[in-house]
Amino acid sequence: MCERLISDGHQVVCVDNFFTGTRRNIEPLLDDRNFELLRHDVTFPLYVEVDSIYNLACPASPVHYQHDPVQTTKTSVHGAINMLGLAKRLKAMILQASTSEVYGDPEKHPQTEDYWGNVNPIGPRSCYDEGKRCAETLFFDYWRQHRLQIKVARIFNTYGPRMHPHDGRVVSNFIVQALLGKPITLYGNGSQTRSFCYVDDMVDALVRLAATPDDVTGPVNLGNPAEISIQELARTIIDLCNSRSAIVCGKRPVDDPCRRRPDIACAEAVLSWRPRIGLTEGLTRTIAYFDRLLSEDAVRRSLLDDPD
Ligand code: UDP
Ligand code: UDP
Repeated sequence: MCERLISDGHQVVCVDNFFTGTRRNIEPLLDDRNFELLRHDVTFPLYVEVDSIYNLACPASPVHYQHDPVQTTKTSVHGAINMLGLAKRLKAMILQASTSEVYGDPEKHPQTEDYWGNVNPIGPRSCYDEGKRCAETLFFDYWRQHRLQIKVARIFNTYGPRMHPHDGRVVSNFIVQALLGKPITLYGNGSQTRSFCYVDDMVDALVRLAATPDDVTGPVNLGNPAEISIQELARTIIDLCNSRSAIVCGKRPVDDPCRRRPDIACAEAVLSWRPRIGLTEGLTRTIAYFDRLLSEDAVRRSLLDDPD
């Protein structure tokens, strides 16, 4: 995101507390005079001068957002309040990275923006799901009450280079396991489905959404509608990595959604956008990234020592 905005000629203030991100990912930008890095947590107020805000804060991997669930809710809710307060003072456009998790374990398939979802309010995923739902509520109330210029994107499973090897989500887990020849950890029988979008496509959609006229608020689904079962994903990744890893079945997480696929008719119409990078191409690029990362001794050793 930062790279794209800089290459489009913007000045970027990148705000991160590095709970799940790493400095290494933005290292190439640190010397750029249009780039500034602030180590800051959005749950605290932030006073800066900008003309648009992308609120992407919050860990998105179930492993990480369930590590400190109270903090996860605070990140989405207090974080949204602070960023909306900032946008209000500056009269700045503000874009919220919402999520397909607002649909919960969906009864409607594929998911359209007018579907209200099927979310457990008291389960282990609720800190993320309800936090993001509450953030959407705040965005629309600031829009109605203070006429803020808001844009709400509902992001479906996104992957690509620069994911953390310990991210814990399925694509990075399977690739790291396949490259190290470790067993592929399939949760349940793998018949559950997801629809995976390559990061460059997602960044392009977010930039397009930010540039829409004031009357476009969303919510708008952003994702790649090509749906695949997790079992098939495991096989695809094993093939693409030329791996001999075996597939082992573990326990399915509580409230793990069974099916997920975005209806992107709205994004197609409003943003003239559709994803361009298919799963094979996207996975190939992501595998190449992890392959390079794992060729570093320290990274490889830490992953091989990892009991998971
Ligand atoms: N806020 C911020 N940066 C700003 C302006 C506001 O972080 O530049 C925070 C501020 O701490 C406040 C929150 O955003 O708690 C909401 O601001 P708003 O103006 O909506 O509410 P109020 O200040 O009236 O409570
Ligand atoms: N999953 C899996 N093995 C893993 C990680 C995840 O089988 O090592 C499954 C998980 O149960 C879910 C799907 O892959 O059905 C996507 O999980 P992920 O954590 O990537 O994202 P989610 O869409 O659930 O937030």
